[in-house]
Amino acid sequence: MIVVLKPNTPEGDITAVVEEIKRLNYEPRVLRGVELTVIAAIGDERTHSNLETLTVFPQVDRVMPVQSRYKLVKRQVHPSNSVIQVDGRIPLGGKKLQVMAGPCSVESEKQLLSTAHAVKKAGATILRGGAFKPRTSPYEFQGLGEQGLKLLAKAKRETGLAIITELLSEQHADLVAEYADVLQIGTRNAQNFQLLIAAAKTGKPVLLKRGLSMRIEEWLLAGEYVIANGNPNLIFCERGIRTFETYTRNTLDLAAIPIIKQESHCPIVIDPSQGAGRADLVVAMCKGAVAMGADALLIEVHPNPAEAWSDGAQQLSLDGFAKLMETLNPFIAAAGRE
Ligand code: PEP
Ligand code: MN
Repeated sequence: MIVVLKPNTPEGDITAVVEEIKRLNYEPRVLRGVELTVIAAIGDERTHSNLETLTVFPQVDRVMPVQSRYKLVKRQVHPSNSVIQVDGRIPLGGKKLQVMAGPCSVESEKQLLSTAHAVKKAGATILRGGAFKPRTSPYEFQGLGEQGLKLLAKAKRETGLAIITELLSEQHADLVAEYADVLQIGTRNAQNFQLLIAAAKTGKPVLLKRGLSMRIEEWLLAGEYVIANGNPNLIFCERGIRTFETYTRNTLDLAAIPIIKQESHCPIVIDPSQGAGRADLVVAMCKGAVAMGADALLIEVHPNPAEAWSDGAQQLSLDGFAKLMETLNPFIAAAGRE
């Protein structure tokens, strides 16, 4: 911890802080500048008591941690990239860029199967589709529930695509894990820690969306809950954050890609569909994401977006998705991926 004292603190007041740091079992090192005195308190911040209590001393200006509060998601504990085997056969986080595509919500057998066949043909490896939907209004379509999961299973049998679907509630953890190859934790639940623990305990890979107003440190700490609960198969997903901008539904923070890559060994996925809320921006967002090193894309695709039961404005048509995949090929190669 670094303890910054107020300018021109008298010697006696410096000594009082030094004594308190010793009492808290840290080793103090006093660094004197012309105006400012700073005390480095040496000790493991994760096991020692928190020095934030020092701010009660009027001569203390700030107390700043040096070590990060997360351990297991950190790149230092696992210097190489973690590669997660989805369904034991689809590597996510390796050389191959994976594409997860499908409707926002599972609506019917015809809608899901036609989408599944089309996205598979275009090169997707994982089928997305919400069976339990987190809707802002209780009067909007809430998803088909277990019936939706059964349709996802049928689509998997017919196409071989792996399945990603959202886990909304702890009470559904075992049910959803029976059908899903990846459990999606949605933006609205990104800090629902009991849900994260329940998801972790299923043993299935967990895709953790960034919360609507979550700082990257909070996102990493939420991810820490998954690994700390015995599940190393954690995937981060940036899906846009809420800002003052209204041209787009959310502001897609592509800077999160290099930051997550620096801070963590876990794969990072970009969801340009929730990110922009506009189908016309999806291609450009995907190009940017691939160029910046995303490990996978999560894209909403619907056979008839105008009639979608949720998120119609942001879903690509089947043709639109096939064109996107062709357009992306040179970008994928330029980024050194397959
Ligand atoms: C979705 O993927 O359809 C969804 C609801 O995602 P988010 O939690 O990012 O809003
Ligand atoms: Mn959606």
